[in-house]
Amino acid sequence: MSRNVVIIGAGISGLTAAYWLHKAGTDVTVLEKNNTAGGTMRTLREEGWLIETGPNSALETTPLFNEMFEGLGILSERLYAEERANTRYILRDGKLQALPMSPGAFLGTSLWSVRGKLRLLKEPFIGRAEKEETIAEFVERRLGREFLDYAINPFVAGVYAGNPEQLSVRAAFPKLYALEEKYGGLIKGMIKGAKERKQRAEKAKDRARMFSFLKGMETFPLAIATRLGDRLRFGCEVLSVSRDDGFKITLRDNGREYTISTDAVVVATPASVASKVISQLAGHLSSSLDTIYYPPVAEVFLGFRHEQINRSLDGFGFLVPAKEQRSILGTIWSSVLFPGRAPEGHVALTTFVGGSRQPELCDRTDTEIVKMVTTELQLLMNVVGNPVFSKLIRWPKAIPQYNLGYGKIVEELERCEHNNPGLYFCSNFKGGIAVGDCVMSGKKVAEKIISMQSANAVAA
Ligand SMILES: Cc1cc2nc3c(=O)[nH]c(=O)nc-3n(C[C@H](O)[C@H](O)[C@H](O)COP(=O)(O)OP(=O)(O)OC[C@H]3O[C@@H](n4cnc5c(N)ncnc54)[C@H](O)[C@@H]3O)c2cc1C
Repeated sequence: MSRNVVIIGAGISGLTAAYWLHKAGTDVTVLEKNNTAGGTMRTLREEGWLIETGPNSALETTPLFNEMFEGLGILSERLYAEERANTRYILRDGKLQALPMSPGAFLGTSLWSVRGKLRLLKEPFIGRAEKEETIAEFVERRLGREFLDYAINPFVAGVYAGNPEQLSVRAAFPKLYALEEKYGGLIKGMIKGAKERKQRAEKAKDRARMFSFLKGMETFPLAIATRLGDRLRFGCEVLSVSRDDGFKITLRDNGREYTISTDAVVVATPASVASKVISQLAGHLSSSLDTIYYPPVAEVFLGFRHEQINRSLDGFGFLVPAKEQRSILGTIWSSVLFPGRAPEGHVALTTFVGGSRQPELCDRTDTEIVKMVTTELQLLMNVVGNPVFSKLIRWPKAIPQYNLGYGKIVEELERCEHNNPGLYFCSNFKGGIAVGDCVMSGKKVAEKIISMQSANAVAA
C-alpha cells in the first residue's frame, strides 16, 4: 500500500503534500488540469504592475513555512509586510477608522460606542452555547451586536468573503470556538491559549507576521513545481477515481483519455470537482460535497498615480461592514504592503467585490465593476479621477463556506477516508482556507501516507 501516490490538483494544498512525500522518497505524481501550478495562488506581471490573482499575502501561522522555504531555497525571496501595514481600517459612518491595537487606543476609538465597549466586560461571565451557532449568534451572544457589526462582520468578509449569519463558528473559526469550549470564554482563553501556542511554536492569526515574496505569492507553488519536475503533469484533468487493487484513476491527458493505477490518491481539488471525481466511490459524500457553497468574488486591481490619492496610505487597507451598505467588501493597499507592486510614483489598490454578501454584483460586466469600485474609492479614500491601470480577476467559485452543519461533511470525509484506505482529501474545504491551513493540511496528509508506508514495510 502507498508505494506510489497520485495527487489530483496542484494548488498549494496538493503541492505541499507532494513536497513532503517527494522529500521522504515516495514515488509521487501530481495531475493538474491547467498548465500552471498554484491553483488560486498565481501572480501576473503587466506594464510594471504586480497583480495577485488570489491571496495577496499569507500569515506565518506555522513554522512549516520557514522549513519549506529553506528547503526550496526561496527563504531570501520572502518579504515581510511593511510595519505600517499593521494598521487596519474599518469603515464606520462612511469614514475609515483605525482598528485599535492597544488598550489605550481601544478606549479612545470611536469605532464602537461607549455602550458597545462596556458590553465586552460581560464576556467572561457568559456561559457556553447549547447548540451549534453561526458566527453571528456566537459573537452577538458573547460580545454584543455592535462588535459583531463593526469588527467581526467585516473581518469575516475579509477572510471568507463570507456571511457571519451563515458560517458555523465551530467549523469556520475552530480556534475561536475552542476558546469557549476549552476555557469557558474568549478573554480567559486568549490568555491561556497564548501559553499553549508558544509551546507548540505556533502563532495566533492576529500575532502572525504577514508575508509575500519579491516576485509575488506564486514564488512558493512555482518553487515546489520546479522541485517536482516531471512528477507534476500539466493538462491532466482527472475524471474519476474508482477502486481497483488500489485505485484506478481515469484522466484526460491533453485530450487523450486513459486510466492509470495507483496505491494511494490524494484529492486536492475544489469540492465540486472532488464530488464528481469520487462519485463512484462514495455516492453520499459526493452529493454532500456538491452542496458546499463557493460564492463568486471579483478581485479588482486598480493602479493610480500617487497624487490621485488624497489621503495618507498608512496601513494595510480597509474592510467594509455590511451595515455600511457599500458595494465593495474591502480594499488592500497592495503597494503599501510590499515593494515592487506598482511602477515608480504609482499606487496599487486591490478591492474585493461580491462574496456571500453581494454575489449578484459579480454578474456585472468588467467595465461596470471597475467603474463601481472606482466610485467607491473616490468616496471612501478621496481618490481623484480614474485608474491609470486596471485588471479584473473573476473567481466564479472563490472560497468554500463552512456553513452551519459543515461538521457533518467533515465527518463524512473522514468516514470515507477510513472506509477507503489509501484515499485522502487535502484541500481548502477541509482543515481551513488560509494558505497556512492548506500547508498544515498538506503536511498532515503526507505524514499519514508516510506512516502507512512504514507500517506496511514492517508488515511485509
Ligand atoms: C480571491 C481570493 C483571495 C484569497 N486571499 C487569501 C489571502 O490573502 N490569504 C490567505 O491565506 N488565503 C487567501 N485565499 C485562500 C487561499 O488562497 C486558498 O484557500 C488556497 O490557495 C486554496 O488552495 P488549494 O490547493 O486547496 O485549492 P486550489 O488553489 O483551488 O487548487 C486546486 C487545484 O486543483 C486543480 N484541479 C481542479 N480540477 C481538477 C481536475 N479534475 N483534475 C486535476 N486538477 C484539477 C485546479 O486547477 C487547481 O490547480 C484567497 C482565495 C481567493 C479565491
